[in-house]
Amino acid sequence: MNYGIDIWSANNFFIENGKLKINYGNQPALIDIVEEIEEKGIKGPILLRFPHLIRKQINSLYTSFNKAIKDFDYKGKFQAVFPLKVNQFPTFLKPLIKIANRYNYGLEAGSKAELILAMAYNNKTAPITINGFKDKDMIRLAFIAGFMGYNVTITIEGLNELKSIIEVSGEYHKMPVNIGIRIRLHTSGVGIWAKSGGIESKFGLSSTEIIEAIEILKQHNMLDKLKMIHFHIGSQINDISPLKKAIRESGNIYADLRKLGAKNLSAINIGGGLAIEYSQWEEKRDKNYSIEEFSNDVVYLLKEISNKKQVPMPDIFTESGRFIASPSTILIAPVIELFSQEYSEKSLRLKNKNPDLVEELFDLYDTINENNYIEYFHDALDHFESLLTLFDLGYIDLIDRSNSEILVHLIIRKALQFATARGFKNKELKSINEKIQEKYLANFSIFQSLPDFWGLGQRFPVMPLTKLNITPNRSATIWDITCDSDGEIPFSKKNPIYLHDVDLSKEKYYLGFFLVGAYQEILGMKHNLFSFTNEAIVSFDEEGNHQIEFLEPTQKIREILIDLDYDINEVEWMLKENIEKNIKNEEEQKEILGELLLLLNDMVYLKD
Ligand code: PLP
Repeated sequence: MNYGIDIWSANNFFIENGKLKINYGNQPALIDIVEEIEEKGIKGPILLRFPHLIRKQINSLYTSFNKAIKDFDYKGKFQAVFPLKVNQFPTFLKPLIKIANRYNYGLEAGSKAELILAMAYNNKTAPITINGFKDKDMIRLAFIAGFMGYNVTITIEGLNELKSIIEVSGEYHKMPVNIGIRIRLHTSGVGIWAKSGGIESKFGLSSTEIIEAIEILKQHNMLDKLKMIHFHIGSQINDISPLKKAIRESGNIYADLRKLGAKNLSAINIGGGLAIEYSQWEEKRDKNYSIEEFSNDVVYLLKEISNKKQVPMPDIFTESGRFIASPSTILIAPVIELFSQEYSEKSLRLKNKNPDLVEELFDLYDTINENNYIEYFHDALDHFESLLTLFDLGYIDLIDRSNSEILVHLIIRKALQFATARGFKNKELKSINEKIQEKYLANFSIFQSLPDFWGLGQRFPVMPLTKLNITPNRSATIWDITCDSDGEIPFSKKNPIYLHDVDLSKEKYYLGFFLVGAYQEILGMKHNLFSFTNEAIVSFDEEGNHQIEFLEPTQKIREILIDLDYDINEVEWMLKENIEKNIKNEEEQKEILGELLLLLNDMVYLKD
């Protein structure tokens, strides 16, 4: 099993000698990078960022649109901006800005704080587009960005915003920004993020409001500032057909607005939504198109409409963020426990006289072999059912119950070993194995690191970093370390994941969660006070050698308490008082307080 790497990894990773490797530069194994970081004293979950994968995505976006423009002899230009909401972290944004320079790739801001980031970091000639709801101060900020020389387009979400822009231009007696109109299409996307489009959408102007906006702009002699119309039909558009409909609809609106006198209207911003393939299973693919098909469709349809309505072909803007950011980041979480591994022969507490069914279980365990394992496996499950009933009725005690649990687990494990050696020929055993999943407890928080899984059920590819030359035989479910039953990634019988039966007292085992570079960290929650993970940027020099360019440990307990606005001195003082009240011996008091203060500097995640 290759964990669907040929489906979701876009050739960014490959398996060699049992290790998952990066398909770039000196092709380091991810496990070697993790070990390199651990040697520097950093343990626990870690987020690895790979700028070369940001570059790959930006390049693929520009190459694909520019090729379509050339192939269709399209007269407009292609231009893109990165929507800051997708990832505002400096460890992501700063490398992106460096890469963006070559492409004149700009930024999109949806709030005042994001706009400040754009004003500080955007490359000078690259565009800035501003979406989202705006107050006058946000519009003032946009004007200041215009005065700074940036090419700024404010996209209005409603007529009131247009009125505010006119008022602010009155304050400054200048109009240093372009105006865009977000149009409310009747087309909406499909999938869990489809709500941004459609007639019921929270955003955009209806046709009547668009006409009104044109009239207001004419009245104020500002129609020449209308440069762009904009739509966004939702993130992760998994089917290409709604996009095509949206292009037809917006292309016709564009052409009609030109005819209504908007002579400087020269761009259609098609928003984001370019999907990422997250699936690990062929039959559950997330999208039905490639980037080439996407760009060909946009360019071809806009050319067709422009020719038909005899208007100049518009420049094409995109704001795809997920496509740019997702592949660049991997979350790596150490597995810290396999629940059934508690069940070892040495934990048995057999009595001189055990209940008959326990004796029989022991016998099954003792004599199970490659010829009888299916039958014995069935018998073991039967006996276990009966033993649990006997416990409920009070006929056997807790020690008998514990012995039964251990023996059944040991029998299952032996049966699985025999079955794996035969390539899982027995369907029933395979299906039971899928049902009695092994629980892999990993040192991370789903709430912090994969909030879209928690909130929306969005799956991210997951696989171990090592042992990839050994067939995994445990159907798995993954648990995080939060005290919350939602902190589990279950796998269905239909789409299971198999992991290895590792002895964690002898070797380490890490899981990688892929394509997590978009939205996850900023949406992440500090549930149970697990905050950001450790983080590193891994880059490659000219010779292709990798280097860990930046390494930031996760928060300490003291830091997260300060973040929550606790006065840390007060916390320390209260701890001290509690110790002094309850421990009489002064030496002991001092020792325990010293230890406690040291533990306040421990990281929030588990260490081992
Ligand atoms: N543009 C707008 C207006 C958005 O609301 C969004 C996100 O939903 C995006 C762009 C980015 O979308 P995506 O990350 O799916 O490309």
